[in-house]
Parts: sequence; structure tokens; C-alpha cells
Amino acid sequence: MQNSRIFRFYLAIIILILPFLGGCSKEFIQSVPKAKEGILDLTQWHLEKEVIRLDGEWEFYWNQLLGPQEFKKTSSRGNGYFDIPSSWNQYIIDNKKLSGDGYATYRLLLKTGESGRLSIKIPRVFTAYNLWVNGELIATAGTVGKSREAMTPQYLPQVALFELTQGENEIVMQVANFYHRSGGILESLVMGHEKLIFELHYKSIAYELFLFGSLMIIGTYHLAMFFFRRKSPPPLYFGLFCLLIGLRTLLVGERFFIYIFPGFNWEVAHKIQTLTFYLGLTLIFMFFKSIFPNDFHSKIVGTVKGVGIVFGGLVLFTPAKTFTIFNPVYQIFTVLAIIYIISILMNKLRQKEKGIGLIIIGALALIITSLNDIIFLSIWMNDQVSPLLRTLFRTGNLSAVGQLIFVFANSLVLAQKFSNALEQEEVMTAQLEEINLNLDQLVIKRTEALEKSREKIAYQKFELEKANEVLQLLSLKDPLTNLWNRRHYDNTIQMEWNRGLRHKRPISLIILDVDYFKAFNDYYGHSAGDECLVQVARAIKRFSKRASDLAVRYGGEEFILIMPELGKEDALRTALLLRETIEKLNIPHNGSRVSAWVTVSIGVTSVVPDRDCSPKELFLDVDKALYQAKAAGRNQVKFIPE
Ligand code: GH3
Ligand code: MG
Ligand code: MG
Repeated sequence: MQNSRIFRFYLAIIILILPFLGGCSKEFIQSVPKAKEGILDLTQWHLEKEVIRLDGEWEFYWNQLLGPQEFKKTSSRGNGYFDIPSSWNQYIIDNKKLSGDGYATYRLLLKTGESGRLSIKIPRVFTAYNLWVNGELIATAGTVGKSREAMTPQYLPQVALFELTQGENEIVMQVANFYHRSGGILESLVMGHEKLIFELHYKSIAYELFLFGSLMIIGTYHLAMFFFRRKSPPPLYFGLFCLLIGLRTLLVGERFFIYIFPGFNWEVAHKIQTLTFYLGLTLIFMFFKSIFPNDFHSKIVGTVKGVGIVFGGLVLFTPAKTFTIFNPVYQIFTVLAIIYIISILMNKLRQKEKGIGLIIIGALALIITSLNDIIFLSIWMNDQVSPLLRTLFRTGNLSAVGQLIFVFANSLVLAQKFSNALEQEEVMTAQLEEINLNLDQLVIKRTEALEKSREKIAYQKFELEKANEVLQLLSLKDPLTNLWNRRHYDNTIQMEWNRGLRHKRPISLIILDVDYFKAFNDYYGHSAGDECLVQVARAIKRFSKRASDLAVRYGGEEFILIMPELGKEDALRTALLLRETIEKLNIPHNGSRVSAWVTVSIGVTSVVPDRDCSPKELFLDVDKALYQAKAAGRNQVKFIPE
């Protein structure tokens, strides 16, 4: 927060300096003595050191353009005395109020005890003049004439030199106006020593050019800022406002613009000057609306814009004489608009909005000085209503100072916002980087976990498949003998049958049944019976040598061999060999009535499958053969069909 302290320090210094800069040009000017009945008595004054306003009662000659020569020849009849500065509007001559249009001659006699080279600083005069001192034409602005066509208006504040002689000096001024609403000498002529007057003049010009330069640079800077980042409109309105019042600075006060372009059309210059005022208010509104979008009511901003457009149109399309009539209306409107702005800003101040202090300082400076100028330049002042107001509001160009303070304060606020935004972006970028980094790690971690669980799942799946396979196998196998069981027999026999059917190849079945096995069990016990079955099964298995042969435990002590591709002869031979092999196992069997050893009875069948038959009939045949073997005395082989 050290930054903001330094910042405030600079701000305080600059805000203190600004009015001082402005004040330079506004040196104290004597407002006494005042002319009385056309004579200004300066015998008591030292013009070496003093600067004197030529205010007071001048001789006034309405509708007459008189030169110094005429005053020498005849004692011309005037219309009495006229208080300067003020416009001749409302002045009553022959029971008639004057309008702004017309022409007149003013005359003042200066009495002095000194002599020497002096200067007169002449303000803008409405709207053309010729000035003589002691018979010598020392300054003109525009062309003085007796009609609109005959005259050319020009605002040209200037400094003129003349030779002051001891005793009586004569000042004669012809003024004509057919262009402005108000006519005459509306601001004070100032007289003093050459050096003092020029100093005054140059300081004013220097100050105004300083303002102009500052405003132009601030304005272009903000416009550039807007063009590089069009999303944010405040710099646009602000930049335009700066350029506008920068231009205005050249058109008011010392009117440096007229120095550069002396021939510049008076109407056009007047239009531009008025437009800068009208558009300035609109731009300020748009600027504030863009910084506080939620606080400024859209309808009010719209109204301000609308009024600005209407009055701007008036300025563009009507002559100065017309649009200046409506100027007071816009001035009142401006005051209302200003009250609205102040109320919103105060509201923001209560909400402790960031930077609001600066904005308010700037706005107040602008508003107070603008009000000063409005009052100073207003027709209420020109129409000599209130000498009190005139003493209060001495100078008509204070708003330039207010504008600079306003512009400065707001450019600081914008700069603050801008750098805050940058800083915020930096912080956010850092945060984002951190998040990204964390995210990377998170992703890596998650991926690892995922990989692990995937591996686990794959492994589990593998295990499960293996288990399943085993289970499936188990469900098709006989656990005691490890031969295929009857379920597998049912599946396989149909398959082999179909294959034989397709290829017209034979298929053989051999069925075995242990003889007197019940008695075996009774004699040796059940587990010995099991052991016997295991040995018999092992012998049978040795006979299923080929890939397609299948040894099956069909029932308790019944076994079947499926032997595809095997014809009758081979099947019979196999069966005989099998019977012999089992007998030769020499498993003792005391319960047998045909042998001392365990023997089997065998049925055999062999057939080439055809469509009229089925595996079921094949089995019936082989079972029948077995029955015949049993019936014939056991321990023998029978074949069906015969
Ligand atoms: P035959 O000569 O007519 O075949 O007479 P048998 O006693 O062998 O025929 P039977 O069908 O009357 O008896 C079969 C016996 O086989 C009945 C049962 O006790 C025995 N048995 C069946 N399965 C098993 C087994 O898994 N283990 C044992 N130990 N005995 C079994
Ligand atoms: Mg049996
Ligand atoms: Mg049996």
C-alpha cells in the first residue's frame, strides 16, 4: 500500500499546483477608479505599477459610427452615458429597448499626470470594433459596418500599444454587431504599462496553450488506449472529452485559435465553441455511465444524449443569433444534469467505491468552474442585471482550470483501474499456472489409479475366466474317474452324428457295464467299488486314442466310448480288446459268477448316420446289444445290428 501513499502525495502536489498555474494569469487588477460621465480621472494613479480596468460610464452614440475627427469638429450629440462592460441589449433610447443588432460609438477621456508608452488589452467585443487612442487607430477586429452585410464579425482579444500624453487622452471605440444575440463591450478593457499588460497577455496564452497541450496528450493517450482495447469504452469517452475541451481552450479566453487563423469564419468558430460545450456534457455523461453502468439511469443518459443531439443540431443548422437564444436553456439543463451527477457520485462515495474521491474532486472542480463561466458568460450577466454577480465572477475562463483538474483526476482513476486490471491478470495467471500444475499432477495420479484398477480388473477377469473355464469343464466331467459325463455325451453325440451325416462317415458306440457290481460293493465295500471304477475307467480311457474319440462315464458302473469314423469291424475289435484288457486288470471279484476277476459286458453298434435315424436310436441299439451280452452270460461282446 506504499504505492498508493506515494500516488496520493503526487496527486496532492499536482492538484495544489494546478489552480496556482491558473492563478498566474489572473493577477489582481484594479477595479477602481471608475469612469464618470465619460471621464476617467487617473491623476492619482501611477500607471507604471498599476493595471487599470477602463470600466464605468462612457459616452454612448447609438446608431452612429464616429471617428476621432468628427468629435474634434462638432460636439456630437450622444445618447448619454453607458456603463461598460455590458451589452447594449435592453438599453432604452427614445423609449425603445435596443436589441443586440446595431452599431454604436463609445468615447472615454482619460486624465493623467503621466506620459509614456502604455498598452490596452482588448477582450473579445461583440462582434467587431475599431479602437482609436488620441486620434490613432490602434486596434481592429473584424469589419465595422452599419448592416449585417457591411460588417464582418471577429473575436480577437489582443493587446494594442499607444502613447499616453500628459493631460487629456481620448479613447474612441466603434462597435457593430449583427451576428450575436448580444452587442457591445461585454468584458473589461484593461490598461497599463506595456510590460505589465503583455505579461498578463502572455501568461494567459501560455497557460491556455499548456492546457491545450495537456488535454491533447491525455486525450490522444486515452483514445489510443481504447483503440488497442475496444472492449472497454471509458477511455473512448474520456479521450474524446479531453480533445473536445482541448479544442475549446483554444476557442475561448485568449482565443489563440484566432491568432493562428485570423480569417476563420466567426460563425463557424462560434458554432464549434458552442458544440464543444454541448457535446462535452454528453460525453461526461457517457463516460460516467461507462464507469458506473448500474448507477446511471439509462433513460436519463438517453435524455442527455437526445438533448445534446437536438441542441447540437440547432447549433449546426441555425445562425449564431438563433442558437444563442436557446443557450440558457441548455445551461439550465446542464445545471440539472450536474446535480444528477453529483447525487450519483455522492451515493458512490457513501458506498466507498474505489477511486471515487478522485472522481469527486475532479467533478467538483469541473462543476464549480463551469458554473462560474456559465454565470459569467450568461445573458443575465450581460444584461447588466447584477453588479454584485459581476464582482463575484470576475473572470470568464476558470473552467479551463476545472477541466484540467477533472481530466487529471479521471485519468488517474483510469490509470489506476488499468494497472489494477493488469495486476489482477498477473495474479490470475499465477493462480491458473498453479491450478494447471496441480491439475497435471492430479491427472497423473488419477491415471495411475485408473491404470491400476484397470490392471486389477483385467486380472480379475482373467481369474474369473479361468475359474469359469474350470467350472464349465467340471460340469462336463465326472469327478471320480475324470471321464466326460453324460451331459457332455449328449452334446457330443449329436455333433458327431451331424458330422457323420454330412460326410457320410460311420460312427460307433461301445457301451460297457461292470458285471455283478452290486455284489462287488457288497463284498468289498463302497470305496473299493469306487477304486475299481477308477481302474476300469483308466483302462477305457486308454482306448480313446484319437482326437475325436470320447470316453464317458454314462451311469454308476456304465461307460460309453464314442468312436467317430470307426466302422463295424474296427469297433468290434476294439470292444473285444477292451473286454480282455479289463479282465486282465485282475481286480479280484469274489461276488462274480463268471470270473474271479472284475469283468465287463459290452454292447457295440456302428452305423453311417442317415436322415431317418437319430443318436437316440443309436443308443437304443447299443443298449440292446449290452442287454444281449448280459443275457448271454456276461463277460462278452454283442453287436447290433447283426
Ligand atoms: P449285472 O451283472 O446285471 O450288471 O449286476 P450288477 O450288480 O452290476 O447290476 P445292478 O445294476 O443291479 O447294480 C449296480 C450296482 O452298482 C448298484 C450300486 O450299488 C453300484 N454302484 C453304482 N454306482 C456306484 C458307485 O459310484 N460306486 C460304487 N462303489 N458302487 C456303485
Ligand atoms: Mg448296471
Ligand atoms: Mg452291472
